[in-house]
This record gives sequence, C-alpha cells and structure tokens, in this order.
Amino acid sequence: MSSFRLGVPALLLVAGLLVSGVAAAPAAIAAPAIPSVGFEKQPKAPSANELTKDPASLLVLVNRENALDPANYKPRDLRTVAGSDSQLRDEAATALESLLKAGRKDSRSLTVLSAYRSYDRQAALFNQYKARYGVEFATRISAPAGTSEHQLGLATDLGSRNSSCDLKACYGETPEGKWLAENVERFGFIIRYPADGEKVTGYKYEPWHLRYVGVEQARAMKASGSKTFEEYHARLVKATKVKPLTAEQIKQQRESLLILRFLPPYRDWSVGYDFAR
Ligand SMILES: [Zn+2]
Repeated sequence: MSSFRLGVPALLLVAGLLVSGVAAAPAAIAAPAIPSVGFEKQPKAPSANELTKDPASLLVLVNRENALDPANYKPRDLRTVAGSDSQLRDEAATALESLLKAGRKDSRSLTVLSAYRSYDRQAALFNQYKARYGVEFATRISAPAGTSEHQLGLATDLGSRNSSCDLKACYGETPEGKWLAENVERFGFIIRYPADGEKVTGYKYEPWHLRYVGVEQARAMKASGSKTFEEYHARLVKATKVKPLTAEQIKQQRESLLILRFLPPYRDWSVGYDFAR
C-alpha cells in the first residue's frame, strides 16, 4: 500500500469518528482488524538453541570465538551445486542455483570457487596459509579448522570468469561483485565479511564470501541496518531473552484498543466513504 493510500484512510477514520454516533448502525458494526505492533513482517523468532547450539540451524554463528560443536560436524544433507563440483546443504544449494541463474540472466559470469569444506580440508588449508604467511596473517584470511562457516555447508566463495580479482578485495568492484552486493538477500544469502567489518567479524573484506541464512532472515538483517552477522545475531539472541507478554498484559492491550470497535465498519477507505448510506 502506498503512503497516499495510508493517508486517506487515516483522515476518513477521524471523520468516521465524528459521525459514527449518528450514521453507524450498531448491529452492522464489525470490529476492524486490530493493528499489530509492527512485527507482522518479522520472521518467526528463532530459539536460543537455534542461535547458539545447533550446528544444523541456518542461524548458528560460527567464528573464532564460536567454534563448531562438535568440531568435526558434518551436515547430513550436502549435495553438489548444479554446474559446479562444490557441495552445499540442500536448501542452500537450491538457493545458490537460483542466484547463479539470475546472475546469468543479468549477464554476470559468476563461478563457484568453493563451498562446503570438511574439518580436515579446512585444517590442511589453514596450515598451508600458516606456512606461507605466518600464523598472524593466516588467521586474518583463513579460519582454523572447526571455526569456518564453510564447514556448515552454508557458505560459498564466488568468482567470475574474468578471474583477476577472484578472492581479492577488488572483486567488490567487478560487475559480479556489485551485482552480488545488490542481490544476494533475495536468495537468502548475506555478504558475511563486509568492508570495514574486520573489527567485528575478525576477517578482512570478502565481497565474494556468501553465507546462507534464508530469505526472511537475510531480508530482516538488511532491514535491521546491522552491517555484520555478528551484530544481527546479537540482536536475535537479545530478543530471545525478552519475556513474552503475560495473558493479563495482552488483555490490557486489547482493552486499550477497544475504542476501535466504535468506528464504522471497515471498508476500503482509499476509495472514499459513502456517509449518506
Ligand atoms: Zn569463504
């Protein structure tokens, strides 16, 4: 609904209040839908277990401070992403296939460089980086085994056919990187390591690393203004600690909204209200 359509009903609602005493037939009065308090577009609140414990949850947070439990966790529903030799969990694989298809339609030559990595594969990779760069730099660009999102089967590194910027910060400036920045949440992904996010995420900018959280949560994260998954995740965890309203509180809220019952019956206010009827 546009803001224009919202504005007109509000005016008519006031007008309706003024005339309701004479114009409204009490027998025909139906209670208008009581407006909810702005949560209708929010996804179902995840449980504390889904957020912090269950490695099979789409919302589990994995980083250096939050290692996988068990460390050698392996998802049960891995499958090969069509057109690649990489694996993701079934739901994330389907989402990535849709994303790749949409990218191709927009002439973006996205390629899958990497997706699921087992504990052993991650350990080997980290040791390679450590030997080449030393432990400090290796830790900035790669995760020690048991702390990588790739082990969840929910993360992927994408590249492009012109690969000069693959796995480099300049990927964000390529047509593919720009397209990802604008479109990933439509498919349930987030750019997990944004620019200037290193202090929070512990990782340098990785415009190529996508994490699957599901469409609702990806959209909600964007709408929340949280820049990193760490920040968004902390908000979700905080929300699990807010006690739900008691029956008495809900009753009080309903009673305070009872005045709405005296308004004329709800109709499509945006086309005008026929007061003469
Ligand atoms: Zn990655």
